[in-house]
Amino acid sequence: MTAPAFSLCVYCGSRPGSNPAYADAARRVGQWIARHNGQLVYGGGTGGLMGITANAVLEAGGRVIGIIPKALVDKEWAHHGCTELHIVDTMHERKRMMAEKSDAFLALPGGIGTLEELFEVWTWRQLGYHDKPIGILNTADYYQGLLDFMATSVSQEFLGDWQMGLVNISDAPEALLRELVQSAGLTCAPRLDQI
Ligand code: AMP
Repeated sequence: MTAPAFSLCVYCGSRPGSNPAYADAARRVGQWIARHNGQLVYGGGTGGLMGITANAVLEAGGRVIGIIPKALVDKEWAHHGCTELHIVDTMHERKRMMAEKSDAFLALPGGIGTLEELFEVWTWRQLGYHDKPIGILNTADYYQGLLDFMATSVSQEFLGDWQMGLVNISDAPEALLRELVQSAGLTCAPRLDQI
């Protein structure tokens, strides 16, 4: 099997959320990754947007790397259909492995787990621990309240404009995915069977 053109880490809700637009966006993200020869790296769960994204990649013939702590496998939350399922001991090990295996990060709508993962890679980026692109998919304005708060943080001088500039924010899945892959210095040509 040829190596994937890129590995994209997706953080997203273990629930689907109330607006069907979230599931639709997750499916589009998964399909785009597979159709451009990419590989999904994610938390290895079956629930909500996590399962929807992973299944969309697999159904479109793409590769999925799931990385999940043993405690969540014991709760029967693991997606055993992943191309590779890595079962690790701790959450810290999971997040480190997800970050190491990825060329870029994308947060879809989600809850506190998603926010924690997003803010961790954002914090690491501002400190120079990595220089991988980070995106926020603001489907149906889900993140608007958070972005308003971040603007308050800038106006109150806890945050600089340059730190906000470290993330790409968009409501257009395909354009954002292209931007992230290209910013990582990789190409995202459509798979031959998609031309
Ligand atoms: P949340 O946004 O709170 O639903 O949490 C989603 C994020 O936390 C995902 O990106 C996962 O890495 C992790 N997570 C939370 N719940 C689960 C679950 N049931 N199965 C697998 N991972 C989960």
